[in-house]
Amino acid sequence: MRLVLLGPPGAGKGTQAARLADDYGIPHIATGDIFRANVSEGTELGQEAQAYMDRGDLVPDDVVNRMVAARLAEPDAADGFLLDGYPRTVAQAEQFEQVLEAQSSAIDAVLFFQIPQAELERRVAGRAAEQSRSDDSVEVLGNRLNEYRTKTAPLEAFYAERGLLRSIDADGEIEEVTERARAALADLAGSAPQAPQGGTPR
Ligand code: AMP
Repeated sequence: MRLVLLGPPGAGKGTQAARLADDYGIPHIATGDIFRANVSEGTELGQEAQAYMDRGDLVPDDVVNRMVAARLAEPDAADGFLLDGYPRTVAQAEQFEQVLEAQSSAIDAVLFFQIPQAELERRVAGRAAEQSRSDDSVEVLGNRLNEYRTKTAPLEAFYAERGLLRSIDADGEIEEVTERARAALADLAGSAPQAPQGGTPR
């Protein structure tokens, strides 16, 4: 199973990504987590990415594409993966498509987390107040949302055109949203063992 999760910052993607990756027994590859690990280890990649992350800007496509290609070449990703936070621009999506095509591979689905703008703003403000991530000041979060709107949101149409987009309502309790995600993916090959088989009780 090769899955991509798409949605704005604050949509709860990370939490759901971990649960779904667990369901399918595939690695959860979160580009933001990989960047943060590299920043705290002081690697060259971390040094390259940090200034962009601190401002809430996207890291340049070529840096991200190289990093993801290297991660996907690791053995645990050979039979499937769940990407959380990549691709984030049309250029990344096009490059990613080419990489997969060269391996005679393809994405099975893109799960899109839909959330009303007002709820998103409420969550983002709450997150800025609660967390001490260096990129979580209100200003930086505003910039992250802007980057999403201008550069990432066009991926919704990109994947809809390819028949890969599956949208779910991401406004709800964690468990509720997980069930919606499972239902949206239930017909795919290698579907989650725990996924309800046609209307099982919740
Ligand atoms: P996240 O935790 O997914 O919100 O990512 C944190 C930060 O890492 C983002 O604000 C970007 O600076 C950077 N980042 C993560 N994934 C990507 C990507 N696919 N393209 C560009 N920048 C990224």
